[in-house]
Amino acid sequence: MAILVTGGAGYIGSHTCVELLNAGYKVIVVDNLSNSCETSLARVQEITGKELEFFKVDLLDKEALNFVFGKYDIEAVIHFAGLKAVGESCEIPLKYYQNNITGTLNLCEIMKKHEVKNLVFSSSATVYGEPKSVPVYEDFPLSATNPYGRSKLFIEEILQDLYKSDSSWNIALLRYFNPIGSHESGKIGEDPNGIPNNLLPFVAQVAVGKRAELSVFGDDYNTKDGTGIRDYIHVVDLSIGHLKAIKKLNSNPGIVAYNLGTGNGYSVFEIIEAYKKASQKEIPFKIIERRAGDIAISFANAEKAFNELDWKAERGIEEMCKDSWKWQSENPNGYDKS
Ligand code: NAD
Ligand code: UDP
Repeated sequence: MAILVTGGAGYIGSHTCVELLNAGYKVIVVDNLSNSCETSLARVQEITGKELEFFKVDLLDKEALNFVFGKYDIEAVIHFAGLKAVGESCEIPLKYYQNNITGTLNLCEIMKKHEVKNLVFSSSATVYGEPKSVPVYEDFPLSATNPYGRSKLFIEEILQDLYKSDSSWNIALLRYFNPIGSHESGKIGEDPNGIPNNLLPFVAQVAVGKRAELSVFGDDYNTKDGTGIRDYIHVVDLSIGHLKAIKKLNSNPGIVAYNLGTGNGYSVFEIIEAYKKASQKEIPFKIIERRAGDIAISFANAEKAFNELDWKAERGIEEMCKDSWKWQSENPNGYDKS
């Protein structure tokens, strides 16, 4: 039996492939490489000493997807493939809805056709909108403030409807908090195109000298030091959460949602300090105005995943920054896609 991983060449997907291969699964990756390259998969195989199957397939191409499902005995799908830049989603919303929602609809149709009904979906803490309090629990009200977030919310609702129509589906909605860090080997990591949108890759590029300074988006929030607070989670812990979710689906739980976070919140200033320590580099920064749509504070209550998946994030902020720095310093130009 095999696990099909959509978007497996990307940041979280490639790390999850490592954990799947190490755990002895056969892994099939489909990815259109719109935000990744095949080098990441070569590195996954290098790290694990195991092979995976790769198909350059766009989820919008149902025929190509159907071909892959026809070729293997697939036990479950982990669905990472999607576009993820919040700002870009406001500029080109139709592309985001087309890619993320139509891609997921196509995937579910082909899964149904081939009687594959176990699905792990990459959702996001963004589906909580501006949470009424912290920590954030899975039963908090859901909302979205931008097309990217709305695509995640709509997909969650589509998957709820799918399950209502046919209870033989088992679906895990994994709501990630802020994944950072890299595999300890430093061979795979986050490799954003252009200017990074997220804090960690930006900080890493300042530390390595690719960018002059970080802009801190506001220091007047009602938080301990005025900067935004998030629940950063090591990408390897996050990846392991997917293996736990696959196991859970085998017990026929129906549709279930889990927060994957550490339960700890760190401010932007605390991240800068932790990264300085890990890299032994200066991180020059300036304070600018708040970023539109940002919330002050978000961190998870992750007890449900602990109780039901037997999963807990093990790696702390020092390890996240150390591993991120190993990847960034040894691959200053990422996978060098040019
Ligand atoms: P990523 O961009 O590195 O990986 C996504 C992969 O999907 C890429 O390799 C891309 O080429 C591929 N892809 C996109 N559209 C596709 C399509 N139509 N057909 C086939 N492949 C396609 O992103 P990531 O950080 O690894 O995120 C993975 C998933 O987790 C995404 O769905 C993202 O929205 C979600 N997520 C990410 C974060 C985060 O901070 N990284 C947080 C919460 C949720
Ligand atoms: N942030 C920042 N400068 C940047 C990028 C992010 O100050 O260049 C802040 C942002 O305002 C937030 C935190 O860092 O408080 C995490 O932002 P990120 O975009 O990584 O995650 P998200 O806001 O989507 O949770």
